[in-house]
Amino acid sequence: MSIENYEKFLEVFNDDLAKMFDNQKEHLHCKEGCSFCCERGDYPFSHLDFEYLMYGFKQQDKAYQDMIMEKIKKLKAENPKSYVCPFLIDKKCSIYQYRSITCRTFGLLSQFSDGEASIPFCANLDLNYSKYFDKEKQCITKELAEKRDWIVQPRVFSLNIKTIRNLDLVKELGLDFGEVKSLIHWF
Ligand code: SF4
Repeated sequence: MSIENYEKFLEVFNDDLAKMFDNQKEHLHCKEGCSFCCERGDYPFSHLDFEYLMYGFKQQDKAYQDMIMEKIKKLKAENPKSYVCPFLIDKKCSIYQYRSITCRTFGLLSQFSDGEASIPFCANLDLNYSKYFDKEKQCITKELAEKRDWIVQPRVFSLNIKTIRNLDLVKELGLDFGEVKSLIHWF
């Protein structure tokens, strides 16, 4: 992969995400020290995400690398469906700059390619979008759906990986996201 091209993509992508976070700030409770998104999940990483993660990982010192690899070894032996991300240390991402596309979108409300809302799971925890979340039906309330004020669409509004990999910018830069797997299954 061309790191340079991927970083060019990330520059634009991060900029779009910043607009989305700003647009949705009224509904978000994301702050430093909140790591729910990294404490329970399977963390889908594309091949490209994984290569970039490794690019950052290899730049860290050996003690850090050994510690992370030890956690991954344990997780692989247990093979859980949902797990605490091995890169989470003291409630912070220890590889933040090199995290995946999915990690970058944690907390936002977005849209699947079929138009359905993709709701941050912490709505169940009385956090993001909880005011407009029907816990029983596990969907956004009619009130929010009708307001549609969350439909301000920067380029990457639909954060589904299928949509992202088809963006013109991705094609222009010749990026190939490749296969998507749970983080620990890349090791
Ligand atoms: S890589 Fe970082 S941001 Fe992504 S799940 Fe792990 S700790 Fe969280």
